[in-house]
Amino acid sequence: MTVEAKKETLGFQTEAKQLLHLMIHSLYSNKEIFLRELISNASDAIDKLRFAVLADESLLEGQGEYEIRVDLDKDANTITISDNGIGMNRDEVIENLGTIAKSGTASFLESLTGDERKDSQLIGQFGVGFYSGFIVADRVEVHTRKAGESADSGVLWESCGEADFSIEDKARESRGTSITLFLKKDCEEFADDWRIRSVIKKYSDHISIPVLMVKPTPPPAEGEDTPEEEVAVEFESVNEATALWMRSRTEVSDEEYSAFYKHVSHDFEDPLTWSHNKVEGKLEYTSLLYLPAKAPFDMWNREMSRGLKLYVQRTFIMDEAEQFLPMYLRFVKGVVDSNDLSLNVSREILQKDPAVESMRSALTKRVLDMLGKMAKDKEGDKYANFWKEFGPVIKEGPAEDMANQEKIAKLLRFSTTHTDVEIQDQSLEDYVARMQDTQEKIFYVVAENFNTAKKSPHLEVFRKKGIEVLLLSDRVDDWLMNHLREFDGKQFQDVGRGELDLTSETDEEKVAKESLAKESEALVERITKALTDKVSEVRATARLTDSVACLVVGDHDMGAQMRRIMEAAGQDIPDTKPILEVNPAHPLALMLDQEADEDRFSDLANIVLDQATLVEGGQLDDPAGYVARLNTLLLDMAKA
Ligand code: ADP
Repeated sequence: MTVEAKKETLGFQTEAKQLLHLMIHSLYSNKEIFLRELISNASDAIDKLRFAVLADESLLEGQGEYEIRVDLDKDANTITISDNGIGMNRDEVIENLGTIAKSGTASFLESLTGDERKDSQLIGQFGVGFYSGFIVADRVEVHTRKAGESADSGVLWESCGEADFSIEDKARESRGTSITLFLKKDCEEFADDWRIRSVIKKYSDHISIPVLMVKPTPPPAEGEDTPEEEVAVEFESVNEATALWMRSRTEVSDEEYSAFYKHVSHDFEDPLTWSHNKVEGKLEYTSLLYLPAKAPFDMWNREMSRGLKLYVQRTFIMDEAEQFLPMYLRFVKGVVDSNDLSLNVSREILQKDPAVESMRSALTKRVLDMLGKMAKDKEGDKYANFWKEFGPVIKEGPAEDMANQEKIAKLLRFSTTHTDVEIQDQSLEDYVARMQDTQEKIFYVVAENFNTAKKSPHLEVFRKKGIEVLLLSDRVDDWLMNHLREFDGKQFQDVGRGELDLTSETDEEKVAKESLAKESEALVERITKALTDKVSEVRATARLTDSVACLVVGDHDMGAQMRRIMEAAGQDIPDTKPILEVNPAHPLALMLDQEADEDRFSDLANIVLDQATLVEGGQLDDPAGYVARLNTLLLDMAKA
């Protein structure tokens, strides 16, 4: 057997290096959080061991007391955080402490601005974990040995947090990990007993495993000699050390809830709100659900980590248990502790277990109720903030969760012609309350962006009549409206789709409409001929007041926004042509009607069609043709 202490130096992965650098430079104003991060990791490592022990008790190596220890050495200016958790082998150390495995890290790093204050917030959402040690230390040593392996499989990792780290074999008797921080000169305070105790109290009180520190020995009483023999060192627990979610609500302070949130979510910011509940009856479980204040950096990444921390009777089972909440609530963080599930439960079993299914539906309701309550609470702008961050995700809800559609619909917020501002702050209940007496439908327009929606020609008649229209421009909106059929017994109607059907039409208006159709028959026919390959139909309309024409989607055709999204995703889309609606009273239409030259008529008709496409924010098939036609007309005008 070779007992050679292999020492090698390896470079950090590029992303890890960048993150390290950024963190050291943007988090210095909140240095003490390193301890929260390292204690949090230690607690996770013990949770993992506890779980592994369920299958293999020998991993305990005869030492079943789980603990975290914090040791200070004022002379050496170091702090050491040790745990007797799962530990790591050589490969795991290289993987875990040399790279960042989170997907989307590279694009996250690109999104950083270089502005320290902003970046420190973003990094907070990203979660800094282990690397935060380098905020206070200019050298970090990690000595670790995996539970169940022999003492000489221990490993020593060491780095100054710049380009590389070294790794070598170093025997370790006890399982677990010790992390020693060689504190920077200006960080001596973190070798101070009193200071560290207060930081642990502040951030880690809720950790369910005792965090031990050396018990201070009282100074010898006056006249008493210092004892000859060294007294054995005694340890005491600095934190509360009971699972926070098992305590009763009245016993837990807001600060404790917030601190616990930071532990489960790896978020730096306080949560927006939370809901802590104990359920008894057919199923018994405790849940503690948090809503973050800020959307995570990877909310739109399919592989984003989501789900709750699952415990079964206080034993940690798994992170990211996704089965307890639907996809559209993927931003919810927290813990669920069940008394019914088996300790051997796996992800596969979770997917099929009926108990999980009913917990999922109860937890979903719980979150929706929490949101409903926040939305009703008109004081403060909590819900407005929530909507700004998570609105587009909630809009996925009606499609995913039919059972709760009504509840979700009440949570939706929109821009509308009532306020004409981009802020989405109007509810469907607000809209319905403002509906005109004869109005039966809830009208909406979908466009690529807010301005295009707001200026859509389809709105002209609605504005004239004072009928409110929802202005939709989020990517998900077309999808949402495909699934949201009704609210409060009222159907939704896309104003850019199908025949204009204003149920509030008066008899006179109906008569006027019919005579309009008759009078413009000839014009419509000529335009139809000129645009025959490009549109499915041309018709006269009363929906326009200022514009000469607009495009309308057939009742069962795909909306323009959805088309663009599918096109961008490289999907095949059915080749349907739009309907062109023309306002016969518009001066341009009158001019068309009087144009005797068929070529000029065709040019004009094509310009009208292209303009209707442009106004929608659409792309022209033949932009050069459009410009050429328009210029011919302009030159003719100059000649005349
Ligand atoms: P995160 O905790 O968010 O995954 P970290 O950078 O804090 O990210 O840690 C990276 C990984 O290193 C952890 O996922 C874990 O596998 C491992 N690790 C960190 N600290 C410890 C520890 N005390 N004991 C065992 N493994 C650890």
